[in-house]
Amino acid sequence: MIKRSLVGKVWLTVLILVIFVMFFMGVFLSQFFEDFYFSLKFEELVKNGIKISELIADAPERPEWQEEMVMIARFIDARIVITDRQGLIRQCTIQDRGMHLGNKIQHPDAEKILKGEITSHRGTYPGLDMTVLSVGVPIKTDGEVVGAVFLNSPVESVTQTVRTVQKFIFYSALGTLFLATVLGFILSKRLTRPILNMNTVAMAMAKGDFEQKVKIESDDEIGLLGSTLNFLSSELQKNIDALSAEKDQLENILTSMTEAVVTIDIEGNIVLFNPMARDLFKINPLIEQVNIREYINNPGLIDSFYTVLEKKVHLKKEISVGDRIFSAELTPLQQNKGEVRGIVAVLHDITKEKRLELLRREFVANVSHELRSPLSLLQGYVEALADGLAESEEERQRYMDILLDETLRLRRLVNDLLDLTQLETGNMNMRIEKISAEELIQRVTTLMEPLFEEQNKKLSVALPDDLPLVMGDEDKLQQVLVNLLDNAVKYTPVGGVVEVGAGYYDDQVVISVTDSGSGIPEDELEHVWERFYKVDKARSRETVGGTGLGLAIVKNIILAHGGEVKVANEPGKGAKFTFTVKIAEE
Ligand code: ADP
Repeated sequence: MIKRSLVGKVWLTVLILVIFVMFFMGVFLSQFFEDFYFSLKFEELVKNGIKISELIADAPERPEWQEEMVMIARFIDARIVITDRQGLIRQCTIQDRGMHLGNKIQHPDAEKILKGEITSHRGTYPGLDMTVLSVGVPIKTDGEVVGAVFLNSPVESVTQTVRTVQKFIFYSALGTLFLATVLGFILSKRLTRPILNMNTVAMAMAKGDFEQKVKIESDDEIGLLGSTLNFLSSELQKNIDALSAEKDQLENILTSMTEAVVTIDIEGNIVLFNPMARDLFKINPLIEQVNIREYINNPGLIDSFYTVLEKKVHLKKEISVGDRIFSAELTPLQQNKGEVRGIVAVLHDITKEKRLELLRREFVANVSHELRSPLSLLQGYVEALADGLAESEEERQRYMDILLDETLRLRRLVNDLLDLTQLETGNMNMRIEKISAEELIQRVTTLMEPLFEEQNKKLSVALPDDLPLVMGDEDKLQQVLVNLLDNAVKYTPVGGVVEVGAGYYDDQVVISVTDSGSGIPEDELEHVWERFYKVDKARSRETVGGTGLGLAIVKNIILAHGGEVKVANEPGKGAKFTFTVKIAEE
């Protein structure tokens, strides 16, 4: 654990370094001190030896020598042995073992000394019972060696001093070691704290938190790294902010688009879709990877996806989803190397346009068809008149009547067409005001009454007393009633009854017109509101001469009032047409 952390590594290195240095320093220093002390001691002993040898050479036979030597020996802390020229001991400050007067000295360098050399020696030699530093100095009279002085100083005193020094070195090494440990630890902590701090910041950055910043504590390399990290973080944040703003924008655009957008990858998995696409294909947004084959049950679209994947070209196609028609544009999403990594499909709902186009075509066809028959009739009769084909005045009059009828029919048709166009384009000016539905019904029925009587049919009106006022355009609502009553009287057989009723619920007044005709075949009920729609084409043309626009006008007027129209067959009676109009607020 310690080895793996930087603190541990730095600390261990410092420790090993200090131990190593202290060890060698200790060994070297103690050796050095030892040598130094010994050489000092030797020097002192030699100096003293020379002095003693000079003293002896000056006065060799002094009786006080013995006591004086003992004094000197104590003073210089060395045993003094004096020999004659043969190496026989003449004087000795301490006599023990082999060191007796008259004995021959066993010093290893004795011969050299007696030849005139000064020697020093460390160790022991026969006649001594301890390790000593011994120095031998020849005694010379007139240049002749007459004897020798040996000074033996116990090593003990020196080694003691050396040991004290070594102990001192040892303790200071221990102290240094302790200090190094503490300082090393503090140093490594100081070194690693900013690094750990940077680590925390980097981890936070990885999690998307760019608020955390490294505290810069120094201006060294680590400080520099810290400020670079801070810079990196702020740059990253800027970039990520910019990216997410772009993403939001894209998402907003996608969400607010009226087109459905779907993106798939090359495996055919849906990666992106907008709410329109989700609703259109009922994509479950919670499922992560969905293959389009599972979701989009539309072979046309799926084939297009794979065609684009294969050929890497833009494709535009009309496809139908359910009862809607879409213009689908599929574009390959290319990466920089031209590799396709997916496809985006934009589906634009063109159902309305398609339907309108169809209606327009139908409308033109219908209008021309409707105009053609009265026009050819007119042409025929006018030609007949011009050619004088009418033989009698009576026949001429009949031709003229037919011409008038057809002209009127044409006029009605053109009027109806104009009304309808105005209604459908929303260019109709409506004057919506509070009006009495009761008065309106009474007025229209009174107006139509003669028509019913003429055809021997009955018109009955049943209205409640408290029918509220409604909001509407009087003229237009009158037209609605007229159209409905017109149809009713047309399709009711002689002796039949047409009933006009009214009632109200919630905020609506409901007005109905029921006839006693043959009704309308059930499967055609919903179509009667369409322009030019006629249930029995041949019959309605010849006998009743409708334009097929009356109910379309009714429906448009009521829808423009915010009401509803309905048609049903009344059992035992004929067709029942109802419409609603909003009740006027108090
Ligand atoms: P038209 O002017 O030809 O009557 P409408 O739009 O008013 O045109 O009516 C469309 C068709 O609906 C008519 O051709 C007719 O077949 C049918 N229809 C309308 N009203 C009735 C009714 N009261 N009873 C039976 N069929 C009707």
